[in-house]
Amino acid sequence: MAEVYKNFINGQWVESSGGERYTVVNPANTADVVGEFQRSTAADARRAIAAAQAAYKPWAAVPAPARGRILLKACQLIAERKEDLARTLCREEGKIYREALGEILKGLALMEFYAGEGFRLEGKTLPSEMPSTFVYTVRQPLGVVSLICPWNFPWAIPVWKAAPALVAGNTIVLKPSDFTPLTAVKLTQIFDEAGVPKGVFNFLTGPGPVGEEMVRNPLVKAVSFTGSNAVGEAINRMAAERGIKVCCEMGGKNAAVVMDDANLDLAVAGVFTGAFGSTGQRCTATSRLILTRGVKERFMSRFLEKARQIQIGDGMDPATAMGPIVNEPQMKRVLLYIEKGKAEGARLLTGGGRARGGKLDGGWFVEPTVFDDVTPSMTIWREEIFGPVLAVTTAQSLEDALRLANDSAFGLTSAIYTENVSDAMKFVEGIECGMTHVNNPTIGGEAQLPFGGVKATGIGDREMAQEGLNFFTELKTVFIDFTGKPQTGNLR
Ligand code: NAD
Repeated sequence: MAEVYKNFINGQWVESSGGERYTVVNPANTADVVGEFQRSTAADARRAIAAAQAAYKPWAAVPAPARGRILLKACQLIAERKEDLARTLCREEGKIYREALGEILKGLALMEFYAGEGFRLEGKTLPSEMPSTFVYTVRQPLGVVSLICPWNFPWAIPVWKAAPALVAGNTIVLKPSDFTPLTAVKLTQIFDEAGVPKGVFNFLTGPGPVGEEMVRNPLVKAVSFTGSNAVGEAINRMAAERGIKVCCEMGGKNAAVVMDDANLDLAVAGVFTGAFGSTGQRCTATSRLILTRGVKERFMSRFLEKARQIQIGDGMDPATAMGPIVNEPQMKRVLLYIEKGKAEGARLLTGGGRARGGKLDGGWFVEPTVFDDVTPSMTIWREEIFGPVLAVTTAQSLEDALRLANDSAFGLTSAIYTENVSDAMKFVEGIECGMTHVNNPTIGGEAQLPFGGVKATGIGDREMAQEGLNFFTELKTVFIDFTGKPQTGNLR
């Protein structure tokens, strides 16, 4: 019998009011049932939001350093459970164990960073134009906030939204992706054990429509969303109708540029990690590769050799270098893009289909796939695939490479491999992205650094770092007049 997991509302584990559940299986072995989860309804979301509203005032009154200390306790619990959390993540999402552990540790770093922010919820003091007047700003929480998360980082993203929201004094309703709810169940248990008071952190599972209530409900003061453009843009419109704060981090189509003078060891390893790490299921994955003519042959022969040798399999097997796609619909989507690549005339160099044989038949595996001669009008150049598929093209010069890299609706991240400082600086200046890397893969982020994209990728503030905390606060500007008499100096 599969284990049944419940929603967490007002400090209690409860079943959905609709009484329905759904099953999640291990994408590397679909006979392995991860668990049964609540198919929550809008009524469940309303209950969670009401609990968060009732808990808001007392939580906002807790001094911020004390809220931070609860996060510190959560850090301790995460450190103690990191292997179990990584195994859970590997089992429900499919990424290989060492990447899963890396994600858990990234979440830990984020939690540590925001625990410390409890001591630094800073405002400013500034001079006033009026005499004997003290002016300052103070950061205050928003109220109930909704956090809606995707499946590809089912641990780090809930942490990077929940930790700043909590330390700033908000109360939360969090919904993980219905594909990957178990890591978030474990995060909820950790917050509960760390001493987050009842009603402050509420959690429910289920598909999209529950999320809609989390945006439309009049008690919700802000929405932080990470996921696809179709859903993010709809959430942005719903939030705009209510005039509430919204942050949407969405898709990417990230380019890596390799110049003639690149250090090939670095470039081959970096593009490989960027394209096939986490089975290409990262918003920051390298999905376009732009090579200048002089490096192309040398780069591709080494790169393809490496790609053809990838061991695909269950992420818990230490020999596995690339795990499965998260579920069958996603796998079919990736395979459809591969077929479009072939049909539109791109030249298939390796991969190109479902990975089969032996244990692979029990899961959702796709071969690492590389297409050359991809042109900017092709679908695989323009759309986010979210799988282990790399589209390659050739550039005449740095300017041409930059033009090709910027030829995208998205603007999350990018990379250039070169030994020439001047080329690196020109690229950094000209690339239209929220993040960029020199001699370093397109992937990655750190707790103290702002994370997010421009163009169609991002709406609203950056996440992580102090910027991620600022999103969950309102600024109040305070004027204190200590002249003791009416002032006439400032009528502006
Ligand atoms: P998705 O948009 O399908 O789902 C994201 C979340 O939204 C899920 O919890 C889903 O249940 C919920 N949802 C679906 N319909 C909804 C609705 N109508 N109202 C409210 N909520 C709704 O995205 P996904 O497939 O889970 O995630 C993959 C996408 O996430 C990719 O495009 C990837 O690039 C993006 N992503 C972006 C970043 C970033 O920081 N830019 C990070 C990770 C993933």
